[in-house]
Amino acid sequence: MAASPRRLAILGSTGSIGTQALQVAALYPEEFRVTALTAHSNRELLFEQVRTFRPALAGLVCPIPREEIPGDLNFCQWVFGPEALEEAARADADDVLVSVVGMAGLKGVLAALAGGKRVLLANKEALVAGGALVTQAASKIGPHALLPVDSEHSAIFQCLQGAADNPIARIYLTCSGGPFRTWSKEAIDSATQDQALRHPNWVMGRKITIDSATLFNKALEIIEAKWLFHVEEQQIQVVVHPQSVIHSAVGFADGAIIAQLGTPDMRLPILYAMSYPRRLPTGGGDLDLFSLKSLTFEQPDPERFPSLRMARQALAAGGAAACVLNAANEVAVAKFLQSVGGKPMVLGRIFEVVEECLQQLAHLPASSLEEVLDADAKARETARSLLCETGFASSSQQ
Ligand code: NDP
Ligand code: MG
Repeated sequence: MAASPRRLAILGSTGSIGTQALQVAALYPEEFRVTALTAHSNRELLFEQVRTFRPALAGLVCPIPREEIPGDLNFCQWVFGPEALEEAARADADDVLVSVVGMAGLKGVLAALAGGKRVLLANKEALVAGGALVTQAASKIGPHALLPVDSEHSAIFQCLQGAADNPIARIYLTCSGGPFRTWSKEAIDSATQDQALRHPNWVMGRKITIDSATLFNKALEIIEAKWLFHVEEQQIQVVVHPQSVIHSAVGFADGAIIAQLGTPDMRLPILYAMSYPRRLPTGGGDLDLFSLKSLTFEQPDPERFPSLRMARQALAAGGAAACVLNAANEVAVAKFLQSVGGKPMVLGRIFEVVEECLQQLAHLPASSLEEVLDADAKARETARSLLCETGFASSSQQ
């Protein structure tokens, strides 16, 4: 007899990861039953998803009048406002996929873990900001309470499946290098939004696309890897690998390096987390090894991409430093994405704002949720005032 389907709640179902998770869930109706969905403001897409997947609960973080819910969607319980994430995380589910963008996902992650649910984590910002709290809560549930969805961390997790108790000697965290891999420091610092939104290999949400241009995405991923795999920062080597075929690798004491390869398709890490430990076809194509001309590897350049250095500094500082880095980056990226026309903000301003916030606030503590939220709020306020005071141009251009 087939086992009953795993019940899945998705926080952030209307985004790039959320929609791909629903695509793979739809391939296996006997394996997965969607029980809760949330969006921030994209009500039309959420309505369509609720109509198709018929969850018991749906949430919109940006409230709308109850009467604007279409009549045929009254079968489900509707929740509005920021509490929607926690409500959905507490819904009737085995697994909670957290695919909202930004630190806004933290309370949802903690609520899911507090309810003994398995968290499938795409939302790296939650782990960066609240790493100690999240990993403590996960450890109370047991192994694999927190499964990575981020492709690099999924790759590392997959590489560890055959490792028995052998400890990790080194993590090779691969990085496409983004659209500015070969650009000079001056050109990177004065890059515009249009240039930064052109990622060479992956189609993703707008915030992570900018993070991939500044390499703040990789900076966040260094911190994410530290928490997920309990390694020291020095054990994490970023490797620029422009072809995005090797999704990351793990080195062991005897010199063996185990890597995971595949096409750049998020459906694999999403479905692997959903169906772990089983592997199911994703609906995407296989990697054709014969079509690969070469796989290349470069050292990252922390001069042109100071984000990588800042991540390591934040880890060394401990406390709320990583939370401050994340919050300042979120504010600076949101401004960068909003600034169109006139004298638009340039990319280098993101580095400057994050660096300045770290200098001012890296000492803050993060031993409770209140302290994390306080550090997050202070960093956001500082970043906003820096952007107001000095404008959007990089100091190298002023
Ligand atoms: P998107 O911007 O495409 O989607 C974000 C989702 O979160 C949407 O459902 C959005 O709702 C919702 N949302 C946005 N802001 C809030 C908020 N303040 N509170 C609650 N919900 C919110 O992002 P991605 O799917 O690209 O990324 C999601 C997460 O996954 C990020 O943490 C990212 O770093 C990570 N990730 C993404 C990858 C990718 O390929 N996209 C790869 C690896 C990791 P609405 O649609 O209504 O705005
Ligand atoms: Mg990634």
